[in-house]
Order: sequence, then structure tokens, then C-alpha cells
Amino acid sequence: MTGHYYMPSLTGSADDFVRAATPVVAELTSSAPVQAVTETASEVQSLAAAVVAAKPENVTRVVELGQGRTFSRMLLDAAIPQEDSLAAAEALGKVYDHRKLKAGEEVTLSITRLGEQITLNALSFAPEPTKEVSITRQPNGEYLAEMKNTPIERQRVAASGVIKGSLYGAGEREGVPRAIMAALIRAYSHEVDFQRDVQAGDRFEVLYDQPTAKDGTPIGQGVIIYAALVVNGKARPLYRVTFGDGAVDYFDERGRSVKRALLRTPVEGARMTSKFGMRIHPLFGYSKMHKGADFGAPMGTPIYAAGSGVVEMAQFNGAYGRYVRLRHNNRTQTAYAHMSRFAKGMYPGARVNQGDVIGFVGNSGRSTGPHLHYEVMVDRRQVNPMSVSMPVGRVLEGKTLAQFKQGQNKIKQEFHGLLDKKTATPDGAQDDTQDKVEAPLPERQPDNKAVKVANKS
Ligand SMILES: [Zn+2]
Repeated sequence: MTGHYYMPSLTGSADDFVRAATPVVAELTSSAPVQAVTETASEVQSLAAAVVAAKPENVTRVVELGQGRTFSRMLLDAAIPQEDSLAAAEALGKVYDHRKLKAGEEVTLSITRLGEQITLNALSFAPEPTKEVSITRQPNGEYLAEMKNTPIERQRVAASGVIKGSLYGAGEREGVPRAIMAALIRAYSHEVDFQRDVQAGDRFEVLYDQPTAKDGTPIGQGVIIYAALVVNGKARPLYRVTFGDGAVDYFDERGRSVKRALLRTPVEGARMTSKFGMRIHPLFGYSKMHKGADFGAPMGTPIYAAGSGVVEMAQFNGAYGRYVRLRHNNRTQTAYAHMSRFAKGMYPGARVNQGDVIGFVGNSGRSTGPHLHYEVMVDRRQVNPMSVSMPVGRVLEGKTLAQFKQGQNKIKQEFHGLLDKKTATPDGAQDDTQDKVEAPLPERQPDNKAVKVANKS
């Protein structure tokens, strides 16, 4: 409601209007023409006094619960007779706790007027975003109160923002719920360390479905349909895929699940020659903990990044020889030792994708022959690379991958369309049994007013 205005009918007693003038927010009659007036109460009084009601008239009036007012007091203020006011308030008490009513609550009253006689037929209000209370007068004059849950709607929202401090802060500036930003961070957590990798000036994009109440109030957790993190100038998009069996996962542009496991054998065609655990040290002959796995392979064999991440170290490192350490997220690192040489571009801060060549098998440092010494660290402690339980994700292939690629374009179009405040073209019929990238919602068009437009530069 914008301001307090009222639209009186040309009938009814003048007294009603004067008494009603204060709490009434809006009033419409079903029989009189709607006519907004700005007269003072005394002018309304004279206007209304000139007309005398002859037949029953139904009026809808919106009133507001005043600070410190009870429900029945509010009804009395709106010129509802005491008997009706008290009975309606009593009925309300059976379905809703009066103490939970908040000042400013807007209540729609349905009233019948016959001359000076006023009867409350019904009233309704939404005490909570998904709850609606209605109270109706029964033929016997009693009031019956009901409370029902209103359906939850889904709203598709696009947002984009520049990260200045935290990612949460960037989301907040663009009106993205904190829960969505938390979900975004979770989706990227297997390969991005938000504390260290994300810098001021990096950007995020997100397209999400937000459940809302009838009045647009966000309710509960939304779902990310598409996200992109632009880190150091490189975009890392993610797409939500719902499989025929109901499973849901996020995939990168190439159709690889974000929940990829670390490669168990990060070197081509190698065999494990020494396991993680206690062993007799090959050079010194005493029992020593072997904190990694050794893979025997010919000199110069390519070594792969076991997972996507950032190069933390790429230099000669004592007994490890030429050594690369990657950080995959804030808990997990992998290290590769005894290399003959590093691959190009291995410098601290460089990004690598799973499977990228990071160096070549060698015999540098304290080593008895060409091999890769491979370590996995969780919380900075070496763990057995073969037993480390990392989430295992799937990789899209064949027909599913082709569908996925098509879906990507649709999602990007929708995202930019929403950002540009244009209505996205709805997709045609969808076969729900097929694996698919989330399609535009068919049942509801995006509401332009809900679109968060931000940072189109
Ligand atoms: Zn080793």
C-alpha cells in the first residue's frame, strides 16, 4: 500500500467515514464507481451525509493493525459493531495466536452496509508469507476461522557482481540471498580456495530459482541453475544437471562434475612401486614412514595434476628434488616430487585443471631411480593417496553431453536475457525422463521487477 488513501462509496452514514478514516488504508465498494478522493474528513462527511443508503451494499476495506492495538480494537476502529468484532477476534484465536500479530498487518474486511447497520461478512490477512487466515460469517451469525498454507512460487533471478571484499559481501550488494552465495561456494569448494584464490576485482554470476510467497517474499533455500566465477580473468562456469533418476550435480563447461575425485594415478602408464605407510627406507635401510605413493615410470613421462587447483610451489625442494605442490581447496593439496623438469607455466598462483601436464618424471633429489613420489595432504597432513575419500563425480558423455552443450546455450541466453531485463524465451516441451540442463521454468515467466540487474560492464 502506498500511503493512506480511501475510496468511499457515496452511501453509508457520515459517522462511519469519520470513524473509519484513521485506520482505513483502502476501500472499494462493489456498487459505486471507484473514485479516489483527497478531501479532508469534514468534506467527506458532508459528501456522505448528502446521500442516504437505500439498499444493502458490499464494501471491501483494507485496514491496518495499529501499534499496541488488539485485533478486536482494530475492527472496532474500522466501525465494525462490537458484537462482530469480539466474535471475529475470538474465532481468530482458535487458529492463530493473537500474540504473534504484528503492527502494520493489513487486514481485508468484507462488510455489508444497510443504512446505519454494518455487518462484518468476512476478513482475511496473511500473518506469515505462506499463511493466509480467513474468517467468515456463518448463516447462524457465528464466525468461522480458517488458516491455510498459500502455494509457494518460484522466481528465477539473475545476478552478477564484482568481488571487492568477500564473496558474501558481493552477493549482498546485488541482493543475492546469503544461502545462494553459500551454495555457490560449496559448488566451487572442490577446486577453488575462496580465502586465497579469489581476489578483489574477480566476478561472480549466478542464475537461481528462489521459492517465494505469493507476495514475493523469499522463503527457504533457492537453487542455483548456473553460476560462473571469473577468477583472474578466467571464467569457470557451472551448470546444474538433473538426471533421469533424480540425481542432481553441477558440471563444468566440458561436462565434468565439480565433485571429481583426485586422479589416483597422476602419471601415464605407471605402476605403483611403493605404497604409503611404514617401510624400510631404500637408501638408509631403517624403518621409516613413507608419506606418499611411488610410481615407477620412464624418465620424461608426463605427470598430471590429480585435480584442478592452484600451483602453490614449483621449485627444487631438497630431498624432494624438483617439486610441485598444488592446492585444490582449503583442505586438500597434492605434491609431486623428483621431476626431471617442470611443465611450462608452473609458477605459484598458476591455475591448473585436472589432467593438465605439470611436469615430467625424473630422478632429482634423494631418489634411487626415475619415479614419481606423489603425496596427498588433507589439512596439511599426508594421507594415503589410495584411500583418501574424495567425492566421486560423473563425466557426461555421448548423447548426454550433446544435450548438456545445448542446454548451456539456453541457460546463458536466459541469464543474459534476465540481466538485460528482457523476457527470456520459454523452452518448448521437455521430456522429463531425459537428463537435462535445467530449462527455463515453463509454468511461470520471469518477473521483470524481480530481476536483479547489476554490473553490466
Ligand atoms: Zn616416495
